[in-house]
Amino acid sequence: MTYPFGAVVGMDDMRLALLLNAVSPAVGGVLVRGEKGTAKSTTVRALAAVLPPVDVVAGCRFACDPAAPDPECPDGPHSADDRPVTRPARLVELPVGASEDRLVGSLDLERALTEGVKSFEPGLLAGAHRGVLYVDEVNLLHDHLVDLLLDAAALGRAYVEREGVSVRHAARFLLVGTMNPEEGELRPQLLDRFGLTVEVAAPRDADLRAEVVRRRFGYDADPAAFAAAWAVSERELADQIAAARALLPSVVLSDAALRQVTSVCAAFDVDGLRADLVTARAAIAHAAWCGRTDVTEDDVRVAARLALPHRRRRNPFDAPGLDDDTLDQALTDSRPDDDPDDDPTPPEGTDPTDGPDDGSPPPGDGSPDHQDGHSGGAEGESAPAPEDGGAADEQPPTTAPRGEGGGHTDAAPAPEKAAVAPDAAFRVQRLEVPGIGAGAAGRRSKARSERGRVVGSRRPEGSVTKLHLVDTVLAAAPHQRARGRTGAGLRLQHEDLRQATLEGREGNLVLFVVDASGSMGARSRMAAVKGAVLSLLMDAYQRRDKVGLITFRGGDAELTLPPTWSVEAAAARLTSLPTGGRTPLAAGLLRAHETLRLERVRDPQRRPLLVVVTDGRATGPRGGDHLSDARRAAGLLAAAGTASVVVDCESGPVRLGLAASLGTALGAQTMRLEELGAESLVRTVREAA
Ligand SMILES: [Zn+2]
Repeated sequence: MTYPFGAVVGMDDMRLALLLNAVSPAVGGVLVRGEKGTAKSTTVRALAAVLPPVDVVAGCRFACDPAAPDPECPDGPHSADDRPVTRPARLVELPVGASEDRLVGSLDLERALTEGVKSFEPGLLAGAHRGVLYVDEVNLLHDHLVDLLLDAAALGRAYVEREGVSVRHAARFLLVGTMNPEEGELRPQLLDRFGLTVEVAAPRDADLRAEVVRRRFGYDADPAAFAAAWAVSERELADQIAAARALLPSVVLSDAALRQVTSVCAAFDVDGLRADLVTARAAIAHAAWCGRTDVTEDDVRVAARLALPHRRRRNPFDAPGLDDDTLDQALTDSRPDDDPDDDPTPPEGTDPTDGPDDGSPPPGDGSPDHQDGHSGGAEGESAPAPEDGGAADEQPPTTAPRGEGGGHTDAAPAPEKAAVAPDAAFRVQRLEVPGIGAGAAGRRSKARSERGRVVGSRRPEGSVTKLHLVDTVLAAAPHQRARGRTGAGLRLQHEDLRQATLEGREGNLVLFVVDASGSMGARSRMAAVKGAVLSLLMDAYQRRDKVGLITFRGGDAELTLPPTWSVEAAAARLTSLPTGGRTPLAAGLLRAHETLRLERVRDPQRRPLLVVVTDGRATGPRGGDHLSDARRAAGLLAAAGTASVVVDCESGPVRLGLAASLGTALGAQTMRLEELGAESLVRTVREAA
């Protein structure tokens, strides 16, 4: 019993975006971004129930349309007298950790080779055909699944090939993704694949929040009764979608309206023409949804607000969102002169989603959400916050995400030294964990993986997914006479099959331990250090690493950012990091040791790489041998087999070389800050002793 779509409170943009896609799948899907606990998934899952049902060929596992069956359907060919059945539209969920076989389907290689039978088990792409494919945490999807998904979405077909045996079938689906940007961004190619994006946040309005909770209670207490109470409005919603679909072909996009679309796209400086197409399609769908056959300025405004924000971003650290003033200006400028459209356009898109059922007070929640929903809430406040001392106010960081503009109402007392802005980021060389891992796909260290180059073969544990042909033949060869082979054709048996072993690259956990104390000296030096760490962070983003940040200064070390996918969050914390005070190096290292111990429990396959950014000095209160303490802490990390790199930040005419001896204690490679940006030189970190 899913939660009724009509009962979702707030989230107006999200509901509208989903409905426009339901009316016109050509709009191209929805990406929903927002913090945890905003009922994103509940809302997506609720959509299926209001989608119009589909006619399919009975017994076809690939959802062939009886009116136009797929000529390549693996369950085909279908004849005209195959019985059609009508069933609800499907919503299929793709788990982020799914295997390739699960997504595209699996060919039974064993049967194909030993029996000559082409046996195909459909995957999720087949299940989603003519329905919805939903990916929660889409930003965490493995690269190779993303590639497969992009291919299928672009072609409208799925294609599976294993050792020369191939199957293809139609796979057209509405792609819906949800994500928490705090956990990392999406690859631009995948971002562009979504027709619309929306940002969601919990409503700020107390009454609205109360209504959310009230309905949730009602649903949890008795889901069936709750659904029954909403059944009428759900049916009305479904009818409205069906009516809009029927009206869609009659909607006219006049030249004037088209000009408004292209003017808006031009004003926001989007790449290519995909934005214009999506905006036009969304505007047409919105007109149909509102029961009109002509596209108005309001349709264009609504469409632009949903279709453009993610298409104008230049790099993963830029803020999303669309400036309403620019939008208004572009719409006004492109109004046809002869017809001064006298209907005053409302500042917000009309919200048809609260048509029949609406018991909620929608007005007023719109603009603050769009303005701030993504700027403050999701980013800094939710994580265990370090004392970020209002530092970001002083210096708007070049790469800080989500424009902190006006955010910091909690004006904390200024730290003893305001944050130093980082120097510009640069390309760094690849730092690697030595040895061969088995972690999730990425681009850093060598690993056994599902992709990559063939390095050997083994007996398969389950079914064969990548056949090593030569080794299979070699295994079968000695038995041919015994198996009674007389003519051509190899006699294969199960025990001959060899699975290819592949070596690719994995992502790692890159844990930074950064000295933020006074020992780091002049502001210019700290700016260089921050610039270097920022560069390493950008590199980690590209290599699909998890990152964490420990800083130490003054009395203690602190886990400034627990291991996360959000390189953006790490960059923001780093940029606003205050500096000064004593240098508790040992505390920083011990904190790292503890953090890695916990992460090993949480995510055992992900190998860590420790990057210690320091000049090697250690100071503390009342004497004490702080250097020895630091060496001992380093010894603990080394004993645990932690791969590490020391980035030596010492500068000035007199060098003590303390960082190098710390490196020795860690069993780490030590490199000077200036050496970090070398030209794509691969350095393998020495194996910890
Ligand atoms: Zn079929």
